[in-house]
Parts: sequence; C-alpha cells; structure tokens
Amino acid sequence: MAKVIDSKIPAGPVPEKWKEYKAHQRLVNPKNKLKLDVIVVGTGLAGASAAASLGEMGFNVINLCIQDSPRRAHSIAAQGGINAAKCYQNDGDSVYRLFYDTVKGGDYRAREANVYRLAEVSNNIIDQCVAQGVPFAREYGGMLANRSFGGAQVSRTFYAKGQTGQQLLLGAYSSLSCQVKAGKVKLYTRYEMEDVVIVDGRARGIIAKDLCTGKLVRFSANAVVIATGGYGNTYFLSTNAMGCNCTAAVQCYRKGAYFANPSYVQIHPTCIPVHGDKQSKLTLMSESLRNDGRIWVPKKIEDAKALQAGTKQGWEIPEEDRDYYLERRYPAFGNLVPRDVASRAAKERCDKGFGVNNTGLAVFLDFSESINRLGLDVIMQRYGNLFEMYEEITDVFPGDVANEINGVKYYKPMMIYPAIHYTMGGIWVDYELQTSIPGLFAIGECNFSDHGANRLGASALMQGLADGYFVLPYTIQNYLADQAVWPKVSTDLPEFEEAEKKVDAEQDRLLNIKGKRSVDSIHKELGHIMWEYVGMGRTAEGLKIGLKKMHELEEEFDKNLFVPGTKEGLNIELDKAIHLRDFFTMGQLVAFDALSRNESCGGHFREEYQTEEGEAKRDDENYFYVGCWEYKGKGNEPELIKEPLEYEAIKVQTRNYKN
Ligand SMILES: Cc1cc2nc3c(=O)[nH]c(=O)nc-3n(C[C@H](O)[C@H](O)[C@H](O)COP(=O)(O)OP(=O)(O)OC[C@H]3O[C@@H](n4cnc5c(N)ncnc54)[C@H](O)[C@@H]3O)c2cc1C
Repeated sequence: MAKVIDSKIPAGPVPEKWKEYKAHQRLVNPKNKLKLDVIVVGTGLAGASAAASLGEMGFNVINLCIQDSPRRAHSIAAQGGINAAKCYQNDGDSVYRLFYDTVKGGDYRAREANVYRLAEVSNNIIDQCVAQGVPFAREYGGMLANRSFGGAQVSRTFYAKGQTGQQLLLGAYSSLSCQVKAGKVKLYTRYEMEDVVIVDGRARGIIAKDLCTGKLVRFSANAVVIATGGYGNTYFLSTNAMGCNCTAAVQCYRKGAYFANPSYVQIHPTCIPVHGDKQSKLTLMSESLRNDGRIWVPKKIEDAKALQAGTKQGWEIPEEDRDYYLERRYPAFGNLVPRDVASRAAKERCDKGFGVNNTGLAVFLDFSESINRLGLDVIMQRYGNLFEMYEEITDVFPGDVANEINGVKYYKPMMIYPAIHYTMGGIWVDYELQTSIPGLFAIGECNFSDHGANRLGASALMQGLADGYFVLPYTIQNYLADQAVWPKVSTDLPEFEEAEKKVDAEQDRLLNIKGKRSVDSIHKELGHIMWEYVGMGRTAEGLKIGLKKMHELEEEFDKNLFVPGTKEGLNIELDKAIHLRDFFTMGQLVAFDALSRNESCGGHFREEYQTEEGEAKRDDENYFYVGCWEYKGKGNEPELIKEPLEYEAIKVQTRNYKN
C-alpha cells in the first residue's frame, strides 16, 4: 500500500477555499528588519521574477545561474506567447474558462486548486509585464493583441512577435537589476548548484561551484528556492537549450524531495525534423504557427512514397489530394488541438507510411491558404522571425510561391515532426510551492504543479511568472515567519562540510574513470533509449527493456567515461558529466513512473491503453493521483507515494476536441 500525502490546501468551500490562501499570508515585516536570507537558484522567468520580488519585499536574496548573464536563461527561447484571461477579444474568455481549459488540457491530472489560482493571477502578470515595458504586440488601436494556442477556442495568448520569452525575461531582468543595485539581490553568474544542504531536516543552504575557477562555495540561508527548469535534455535531442539540465532537481530528490509525475513529458508537434545523426539540438517552430498554418500529409500512399523518394514536392499535390488530418479528425479544434493530440496524430500518419520527407518522419505545415487570404506581409508581421529561422536551418523560405494549380498559388510548406519539448513532471510541491523538505521550494518548470499530464501552449511562461511574481513571494512567508527565531546557520557546520566533500569526491570519481567514451557519445545513446522506449508510444515490455538498457549504459558510464582536464578552472566536459550522471537517474525515474501508470493520459501514452480511435484511455478509478517518488539509493527502486486528486469545481470526463 503506497503512502499518501496531502497538498495542504486550506479547507473551505469553493471558490472561497482557493482565495483563502491570500488571507493566510502572514507578511514578514516587508522591509525585513529580520534579515532573512533566501537563496534562489535560477534566473529564468521563474527565478528572476522570484528573486526580484523577494528583493523588493526586503529579503536578502542570493541568486545564482549557470550562464554568464541572467538574460541568457533558457526562458529566452520561448517564442509563441503567454496566456491570460483578459478577454480583450470579447470572445467569452474568463478566469473560469482558462482554469477549465488548463485542467482539461492536462487530461484531468493537475491539482485543481493550483490551476484555479494560476488562472486568477494570469491577468496580473500581463499588467506587471506591461508596467515593466515588455513590448507586447498591439492592435492598430493600441489594445494588446492576442492569438490562439492549442486546446482553447478563445484568443488569449499575448505575444511579442516570436520572441515572447526574451522580452518577458528582459522585463524580469530589469526588475532584478533594480534589486541588485539596491543591494537586496546578490547575483552569482556562472555558478552551479551541486547540492542542497539539510540541517535538522530543513533546507539551510547549498553547495555551488564557481564554473570558471572550479572552486566549491557554501551558501547558507533561511530558505532555498530552486527554479532550475525542466529535464527534457534527458532525451539528448530536444528543443531545450543545450545547457538545460536537472542536476539541482535530482540532487534535491536524492536528499529527500519527492519527484512527482516524471513520466509526464511533452512532445511538441511542430519541430524541425531530425536530419541526421550528427545533430545535438532540435529547433521548435512555435505553436502559434498553427493559427495560420495547416497541417497535412498526402491522401494517396503513392504521393507519400514519391515525396519520400524526392521525385515529387509538396506543392505539386493539389488540394483534393491533401489530407488535413487534424481538421478531419477534430473538427471543433482543427489544427489547434493540444500538443499531445497533435503529436500522436502526426506519428499515426507517419507510422502508416504517409510521412513526407526522406526519413518518412515529417508532415507539412502549410501557409498557402493564409498567405492567399491575408497576404505575405500580414503573415510576416505575425511570424517573420520564425520564417527566417526556418529558412536559416533548412534553406527553404515558407513564403516563397512554388506552384500554381487551377489558379491557386501554392507556397513552400514547412516540414515538421514531434520532438521532446517540456516536462510537466518535476519536484513535488504543496499548495505553497514547498517541497517535501521544509524550507526548500521549487518554482517554474522544475516543479510539477499546474499542467497535469499535458501542458497547453503559452502556459509555461504564465506558470513561471505566476510562481515568481505572485505566489512564492507570499507563500514562502508562511514558512519564513517561523524562521525569525532561527538564526541563519554557519557554513562551518558538519552538514556543509560533508556535502562539499561529497561533491568534490564525485568530481574526482568522474575524472578518474579515465575510460574511452566521451560524455556526449553516452548521452546520445541514452537519448536513443529514451526516445525509443520511453518516448511517444510506451509499452510495459518496452519500458522494461528501456530500464535494462539504461542500467547497462549507466554501468558503461561508470566504467568507461573519459573526462579530460582537471577540476581546477573551467572544465565544461566535467560539468556535462555531472549533468549526465543525473540524466541517468532522471531517465530511470521517467521509465519507472511510466511503467507504474497503467493508463494513458496527456503526454504519457501507453499503447496498451487506447481507444479504438487511438486516443489516450485514462483509468480514473486506479490512477487519479499525483505519483510522487521517494529516492531509495542508486540502483534501487524508488518508492511510490500518492497524492490523491480532488476535483470539486470541474467534472472529470473524457477529453473531447472533436465537437
Ligand atoms: C523553444 C521553446 C519555446 C518555448 N515557447 C514557449 C512559449 O511560447 N510559451 C510558453 O509559455 N512556454 C514556452 N516554452 C517553455 C518555457 O520557455 C519554459 O518552460 C520556461 O521558460 C522555463 O522557465 P524556468 O524559469 O522555469 O526555467 P529556465 O528558463 O530553464 O531557467 C533555468 C535557470 O536555472 C539555472 N540553473 C539550472 N541549473 C542550475 C544549477 N544547478 N545551478 C544554478 N543555476 C542553475 C539556469 O542558469 C537558468 O537561469 C518554450 C520552450 C522552448 C524549449
């Protein structure tokens, strides 16, 4: 019988229940005469917004990141937009509707109360960012513009061309810089957290490495917040920035923080397909493109074969021979179905032989209809930088006219295929964003919180900024209120000493293996195992094979790794080796969770559990819970702990995007 945990949601009727959390906030003297220190690890949208807000509230903040500037956090990659329930389009949007769409989009596996809170604060985020000067796109009349993202029938996505993440991060960075100047935030760039230090059962500090000198440094504080992003790079090829890693999260897991729903991994339908075995990165083509781009493959298998052989081009296939399969299967949402649904549909067509490139693993994203209707200028205003990015990578410009059939102009379509993109799973947190270790908080993509089994487009930025600007700065005070009587501990404590020694010894171990294989070669192999056995379609048998292969490869890593150089000074290979060690722990955890969840939901698709039409088949009777895992040592099976889900406002039903 698995242990059960509680998310500490304040009791009371809906919706007052969720609003009560505001009343619970016991504000610790805002100008902080108490001198409480908080470590915030990460300067992505979640970390930068949290550090800036905590500094503004008077806390002393130590803020770290691995890049040379907070502005280079992975968050700058975010292209398409950020959701909010402003209803500027007068199309019937509301807080409730955003809440409902998010819960439904997550295939009823999110914690309902968290999602309601997220929808509630969504509008504040836009106001906050506008006040910072974020240049959101505007209508001719000056009103902020919106576009649509998957899983919604309203237009609620705010955007800044295809650079929304970058502009939002510049806004957060300017707030952060104010606090740096005010002396409330001390910034440590090129510092990597290697371990969390627990004293008397509470998170009391971290061990970090100065990545330039290799020196290990101890930081002590009254609370630790990790905002270190997701674990998508476990799969080697993903749309994530190359530096994304899960070392901080996995170290917290090893120290006792539960890891929730690791198998909920998002595979994004619109990425530039893999084009060879020398690649180390995949590129996303934003979901926003599905507003105006139509996804299709040929109706006739002989056309598909000709495309694969290179004897025919997409623009030579006339309208009547095209299968707009998303519009056909999901008439109500068409090309704007959620990502998990769109990805599986693309795989289904390609598995049946209808893929459109030489590998057979691609479908078309075509702008012919919208360019003919709106003109290239309008389309370029909306997606100009994405078209240019596509051209730079593939040498094909999607705005080039290529053919004319029966008076209709056909433009060169993009080719796209699903790829690993985002991780809904993460460190388990309660309603106050505190992990199962008191004093340790997790925010942004690195926690599991709000997206259930599938995240809707443009909701990650919303969640990261909600956590950083509007939730954590208040909820952390419920913890810190007690800390007023606790002085900050000394970094000379044996707990710090021991943690630092372990980190140092780990570096020695990796350097001394002196085998023959590079970090990347092993990581690439791990990625293949993950994609093949723990990817878009999973089976019990495949997951067991995947786990076995991962164990074998981890042994190879431990025996045959080669890390050049020393631990003194800059050693990028050593840093990557540490990350890979943790990707192994993570990969196995993803597979364990996937194996234990005998159902399909959202991004977790077990082929044994599907409807006749190939849709995900949930088992609410047995799996209506958050699956949390407790670390039990290397090579041992982690222990499952369940947080039962409770839905009061939304009726749990089968997802339907057809009508
Ligand atoms: C190509 C792409 C496009 C996207 N587009 C959108 C979009 O349009 N809309 C949307 O809502 N979402 C989008 N997303 C998702 C979204 O960008 C991310 O989920 C979000 O930015 C994550 O923010 P974060 O602050 O949690 O983490 P990150 O931005 O990943 O930041 C992590 C931070 O932690 C630091 N860090 C990591 N490990 C350590 C360590 N051990 N020690 C010290 N520091 C550490 C890093 O330096 C960094 O500062 C997109 C994602 C990708 C890959």
